[in-house]
Amino acid sequence: MKITIVAGARPNFIKIAPIIKAIEKKQREGADISYRLVHTGQHYDKNLSDTFFKELNIPQPDANLEVKSGSQSVQTAAIMIAFEQELIQNPCDVVLVVGDVNSTMACAIVAKKLNTKVTHVEAGIRSGDMTMPEEINRMVTDSITDYFFTTSTTASENLLRYGAEPTNVHFVGNVMIDTLYQNLDRISAPSFWDDFQLATGNYIVLTLHRPANVDEEKSLIQLLEGIDQLAEGKKIIFPIHPRTKAILGEQQINTKNIFFVEPQGYLHFMFLIRNSFAVITDSGGISEETTVLGIPCFTMRNNTERPETQTIGTNTLVGTSIDNLEKTFSEFLKNGPRKAGIPELWDGKASERIIEILLQK
Ligand code: UDP
Repeated sequence: MKITIVAGARPNFIKIAPIIKAIEKKQREGADISYRLVHTGQHYDKNLSDTFFKELNIPQPDANLEVKSGSQSVQTAAIMIAFEQELIQNPCDVVLVVGDVNSTMACAIVAKKLNTKVTHVEAGIRSGDMTMPEEINRMVTDSITDYFFTTSTTASENLLRYGAEPTNVHFVGNVMIDTLYQNLDRISAPSFWDDFQLATGNYIVLTLHRPANVDEEKSLIQLLEGIDQLAEGKKIIFPIHPRTKAILGEQQINTKNIFFVEPQGYLHFMFLIRNSFAVITDSGGISEETTVLGIPCFTMRNNTERPETQTIGTNTLVGTSIDNLEKTFSEFLKNGPRKAGIPELWDGKASERIIEILLQK
């Protein structure tokens, strides 16, 4: 079986790393399986791309489509044009896409139109929020996917409801969590750990990059100034996403507890998360990682496509207003963290299950 693996953005790199390891393991066992890795170039910043390839030992891509940034449509179109040539020149049995970024949707469409089977890892999750580009990417991708691999029974049920063929829907667990377990003993403190006098439990990690939170400069500044006041003197470490940084520009922000740092590599970032008091974020992936690590997570969104992080895990949805965050956070400071668990099959073995199942297709 020849698989073309597509990755375009930071969360994709984290998801493909264990899938590649699982393929290589099968190759060593003598299975007839090979892969070609295509980087679309959607994220090209060193901090969002190269660092992840190095730290997670992902092989150099066989092809880099170098599409870079653009509006939603410009970027999607550029990926499709480049990936069509790539796939015509290098045909395969299956194109495997992960997650919900533009590369996921664009390459799935191209593959399907070239009569190549599409595999979607992290299929079936839905926020119901059509204002998020990711939701559209998920829906379009799943509507033309052949083999679905899901992180939860809810995601599988969603797919069945939309008419997916039951024998092609496989609940396997979470590849993001495979990466977490595979690297937990390699995580290490970033260089600013001592300079900022960080210690386990004495700081909060903040990440924000979703349009609803960061696209309006004035409300972003108000949000940051509000978050600065939340934490009873706890430091707030804010690895600032390039998108958010570009919006803030050279603005002076009146905060005293927030420490702005570059986006962190995976190993430093997971060290920061694992040792933090709490996390405030609008990332989906981080709400999964905090769930497994048992770190309280406050998600600045009105909805989530990952309900198990709330119902089972440590995640609390707080909406996008600072007032709600203040209220929820002060209850947390008063009552402490609530009891939480780890969702079914988030055990570090999802990638092996995926490859095992694909080989039987
Ligand atoms: N991440 C990282 N360094 C950072 C911020 C995030 O390594 O400074 C990792 C983290 O493990 C997280 C992943 O990037 O799971 C998700 O990234 P992002 O928030 O961009 O994507 P989302 O999960 O919102 O799609």
